[in-house]
Amino acid sequence: MTTSPGPTASSPNGRPRVVVVGSGFGGLFAAKALRRADVDITVVAKTGHHLFQPLLYQVATGILSEGEIAPATREVLRHQKNARVVLGEVVDIDVEARVVTSTVLGRTTLHPYDELIVAAGAGQSYFGNDRFAEFAPGMKSIDDALELRGRIFGAFELAELATDPAEVDRLMTFVVIGAGPTGVEMAGQIAELAHRTLRRDFRTIDPEKARIILLDGASQVLPPFGPKLGEKARRHLNEMGVEVQLGALVTDLDPDGLTVKDSDGQQRRIPAATKVWAAGVQASPLGRLLGDRTGAEVDRAGRISVQPDLTLPGHPEIHVVGDMANHPDKYPGVAQVAIQGGRYAAEQIQRRLAGKEPKGAFRYRDKGNMATISRFSAVADIKGMKFEGFIAWVIWLVVHLFYIIGFKSRVTTVLHWMVSFLGRGRSQRVATQQQVYGRLALEKVGPGFEASKTGGPKDHADNPDEVNPEQQHDYVGRRTA
Ligand SMILES: Cc1cc2nc3c(=O)[nH]c(=O)nc-3n(C[C@H](O)[C@H](O)[C@H](O)COP(=O)(O)OP(=O)(O)OC[C@H]3O[C@@H](n4cnc5c(N)ncnc54)[C@H](O)[C@@H]3O)c2cc1C
Repeated sequence: MTTSPGPTASSPNGRPRVVVVGSGFGGLFAAKALRRADVDITVVAKTGHHLFQPLLYQVATGILSEGEIAPATREVLRHQKNARVVLGEVVDIDVEARVVTSTVLGRTTLHPYDELIVAAGAGQSYFGNDRFAEFAPGMKSIDDALELRGRIFGAFELAELATDPAEVDRLMTFVVIGAGPTGVEMAGQIAELAHRTLRRDFRTIDPEKARIILLDGASQVLPPFGPKLGEKARRHLNEMGVEVQLGALVTDLDPDGLTVKDSDGQQRRIPAATKVWAAGVQASPLGRLLGDRTGAEVDRAGRISVQPDLTLPGHPEIHVVGDMANHPDKYPGVAQVAIQGGRYAAEQIQRRLAGKEPKGAFRYRDKGNMATISRFSAVADIKGMKFEGFIAWVIWLVVHLFYIIGFKSRVTTVLHWMVSFLGRGRSQRVATQQQVYGRLALEKVGPGFEASKTGGPKDHADNPDEVNPEQQHDYVGRRTA
């Protein structure tokens, strides 16, 4: 356990300054836990909203609007007088001078701190193949979800116009890569969309014939849930018309489809217009930056090794929580680890300010795992008790509603769920061209945008192809020029 030099009460009003990086689960819950503390809090995040990532797939498949899962951080904290919200991407942390530097649209701001909580989360990892991102967006941000929505609904539109049967098949094939909770939920929802919602909407194509493939290099779906629930989920997905292909590694991706290597070493090709990447995460580059500055170890996924109390060696004033932190007890990258970590860091800070002994090591209380497969069906593993089917779905529903922030969002979410789960509709089917082309346009503006997508800054010089202004894409990622 480290000893604290004690915060220096050096803000203009004499109160200690706490800077929180990130407004996700770790950052927001840390800031809220400090609401009664005699400190000045600055929450710096590169988005103006708190994002409820577990429901991103419902935005991508037209069930929920982005506003329901992403309330403005400023609004969430508006009654908390000791907290201030600043929009900006943190680009530097001077751990000796204790200053965080953030930028937004060329404007640089310095944030001196006495205590720092870093909760910058993780982005998508393409395991060194960042060019895959162009053809298979991940599911980490509102941009990702809206782009995917445009690609999914756009694929059906183009299939309706296509005359070549092979092209219709390619457009109506949807491949989700990664059979963890996100991949399972995404594949299940694309199946429900095709087989229920869109069933009667087209005249030329039959959306019920859409092919939805969920593939993974591992030998079971939902590995964290154990083999029994994994097998139940696989069977249920099959019944819904999702082809589950296990032991299948993606070796290449392009606009027309993907190449897969099976466990027997055979390579095969799947023509598919829409690909979704739900495999692998890479911690925020701030993990490596802090590792370089403090000497703390950083693993291959970019997560920084923290001490048992979530601080960095030699820096008891720097707390790292959530997906970025590699705790000695090897906690998973889930929302509860970030929430509990954020609250723990806030309590440590308050104890220090009050001159109390620090708490013991951070211990994550596992509240369980759950994933929906379809409407009325889910799997849940709660403290060793396994639930499946309708009961698990009701538990899932209640837990997710509880954690959605804000009364208004809860009410509208329930209404949209009724439309989708009791009826056949989807209230959020709008997909604009800007959502689909926007990312490419922003990539051409500058590399900073790319960093937010893959979780790490990207050297475009490695891939000059990706910034070629001559290249355009149609709705579904096919180059048109
Ligand atoms: C699609 C999806 C589904 C998921 N489903 C579940 C689930 O069902 N159950 C579950 O428990 N967990 C789920 N998770 C995981 C869970 O969302 C994460 O574990 C959790 O969000 C981690 O919280 P965090 O605070 O560490 O990071 P995040 O919540 O990701 O927050 C990171 C914050 O940091 C900000 N930020 C990043 N870099 C910078 C920077 N340089 N400067 C300033 N700000 C920055 C971001 O804008 C964001 O506000 C899911 C994740 C995804 C992507």
